[in-house]
Amino acid sequence: MNSDSKIPVSTYFGSMTFDHKAMRAKLPKEEFVALQDTIKAGKKITAEIAGVVANGMKEWAMEKGATHYTHWFQPMTGSTAEKHDAFLSIDRDGTPIERFSGEQLIQGEPDASSFPSGGMRTTFEARGYTAWDPSSPAFLMKGGKDLTLCIPTVFISYHGEALDAKTPLLRSMEAVSKSAMRLLEVLGVTGVSRVKTFAGIEQEYFLIDKKFYSERPDLVMCGRTLLGALPPKGQQLEDHYFGSIPDRVLEFMQEVEHELYLLGIPAKTRHNEVAPHQFEIAPIFEEANISVDHNLLVMEVMRKVADKKGFALLLAEKPFAGINGSGKHNNWSIGTDTGINLLDPGHTPETNVHFLVFLVAVLNGVYKRADVLRMSIASMGNDHRLGANEAPPAVVTVFLGELLEKVLDAIESGKVDLKTEKQVLNLGLSQVPLVNKDYTDRNRTSPFAFTGNKFEFRAVGSSQAASVPNMVLNTLMAEAVDEIADAIIAKINAGKERDSAILETLREQITATKPIRYQGDNYAEALQQAAKDRGLPNLKNTPQALRVLLKKDVQDMFIKYGVLSAEETNSRLHIRLERYIKGIDIEARTLQLMLKTFVIPDVTEYQGGIGSSFNNLLAAAEAIGLSEKALKSQADNLKVLAENLSTLIDMTAELDEAVEKIETLPTEFEKADYCAEKLLPFMSEVRVVADWLEQVVDRSRWQLPTYSEMLFEH
Ligand code: ADP
Ligand code: MG
Repeated sequence: MNSDSKIPVSTYFGSMTFDHKAMRAKLPKEEFVALQDTIKAGKKITAEIAGVVANGMKEWAMEKGATHYTHWFQPMTGSTAEKHDAFLSIDRDGTPIERFSGEQLIQGEPDASSFPSGGMRTTFEARGYTAWDPSSPAFLMKGGKDLTLCIPTVFISYHGEALDAKTPLLRSMEAVSKSAMRLLEVLGVTGVSRVKTFAGIEQEYFLIDKKFYSERPDLVMCGRTLLGALPPKGQQLEDHYFGSIPDRVLEFMQEVEHELYLLGIPAKTRHNEVAPHQFEIAPIFEEANISVDHNLLVMEVMRKVADKKGFALLLAEKPFAGINGSGKHNNWSIGTDTGINLLDPGHTPETNVHFLVFLVAVLNGVYKRADVLRMSIASMGNDHRLGANEAPPAVVTVFLGELLEKVLDAIESGKVDLKTEKQVLNLGLSQVPLVNKDYTDRNRTSPFAFTGNKFEFRAVGSSQAASVPNMVLNTLMAEAVDEIADAIIAKINAGKERDSAILETLREQITATKPIRYQGDNYAEALQQAAKDRGLPNLKNTPQALRVLLKKDVQDMFIKYGVLSAEETNSRLHIRLERYIKGIDIEARTLQLMLKTFVIPDVTEYQGGIGSSFNNLLAAAEAIGLSEKALKSQADNLKVLAENLSTLIDMTAELDEAVEKIETLPTEFEKADYCAEKLLPFMSEVRVVADWLEQVVDRSRWQLPTYSEMLFEH
């Protein structure tokens, strides 16, 4: 579909989704109202309503040109899955007819055995089912020439265990809502029937020419380059950031946006990023589960449009060594169904109090569960990005900004009395949004920064589904909110007035959570020492971070809030460990392949040319009167080349052994640790030699597209 800039977006926004408007048009009034009520209340829909809704949905989808439907779900691999079924069926008398029943809408049975369960189900009972999540609208997705009706679903085993990433996120949203409602009651806020969490997900990505991509096995197999010398220009000039967007890329962006608008995804900003060929897209924030769904669709739509436009989309966290990587900034906030953003300081003393209490709850949660938050964003790809002097480090800290720091300090030191000095507090806080709009008060090095009325979790990897980080944020928040509510209630029960109980709790919390507040440069070495001094977790790689899931208190937290059973936590641990090991195994084997079939042959051929030229020269040296010194320079040149090539050949043989060793190690953790601590560093050593050779070998003999070509040619 071509974007026509003359038609206002609002006229077709969401037209490929079975949204409010489509439902109203296609459903009888009674069923329409009933469905809206179940969506609002988050309840299950009855079989009768499902039948009517399915029929309306099918009619709507077929009018738009859909022939198939699929249950669209998020297995624990971090992507999405679908199995298409035709509407077509054959009647008993042999007549072809399009059918879509209520049962087919609300429940499906994909071949669950092909999705990882982390050992939760034995193969013989490898059955799971998908169930419609009516809170996320069904949509039509283009694939080939046809449209498919996609029904967002959760994926559960027959024993009720969550086999997907979405179910725990929905559970965590319930949990935080319940806890926050209780705290609001303590604070005297009434009329709220649900507390929601919101996410606005900024997505960074690289676009390179497809012809380069397809010539690089590392990009095709692993999504990142395993070899490649940095060009002299690199990104030293940083002239790309917010610079003008090349036309070809702009066309890509426009088409992506058009497709997203049809899917009801509110894409808002687009711009260049720091690195060459790196860009960002950011939709407007939505309720967390919708936002996570939409981010998955953003990635999918971008991949399709890129392919169509002759680009390859790179979502890996660090596709190019020495060049900034990509992340996903997860802007997160919490608010009521009555429209109060609980992280917005607001303009009255009362809203300031909610704000402070919820702000302190975030500090409490992030401090207590910094390791879990770190675990939530651990992945093979993100390990290359975190702490690489361009992205938040593995240490989680919170940045609040100067003004809020002052406010918290004032409360802590007793300079503020909620009862008598509400005015002072109010004046200070009402300026917060203003101050934060100002970029000077932004700490872009912080992994978790307060930005006016939300927190920005910047450590999420660009290729990851945002379900796990949001699930963790909601759960740690539920726990923190409960602790704070308990503390206030205990003081009130002990005879304190409410305001004093709140203020006293704030003070205690501010003091207790101080170590998590860090206003300095998170890229600087000083943070490492600060982390040590303050006892903050500093989990350097994925296997270390995943061990957090073994901790009893972490498992207990997930159990207590009904988010993950112990078995569900364990299954996630195994799946992620396995993906990590397999991923690095694939990378190492791809590197072997590239060394053996590209680098070594190319260098050998080049060396052959130099070698015979040297022989010729040697034969003619006397006749042409070549000096010893000149001859030696050429000999040295050949010698260094031959030595490096020999080193590379030896290292390639060593790499063979190093890869085979993975399988011989007895446990998953030993395998993963070995990959992180031995294999990856060795791959980097090999790379240094190969990249040196790339820089001396004649370009016409080097088969792999170079960094210069991929990053500086348009
Ligand atoms: P940047 O961080 O690049 O300056 P913005 O401040 O414009 O970007 O916002 C980034 C993202 O934060 C957007 O997706 C935006 O919709 C989202 N956002 C804004 N307010 C909230 C909120 N209250 N809760 C969650 N996300 C929000
Ligand atoms: Mg941002």
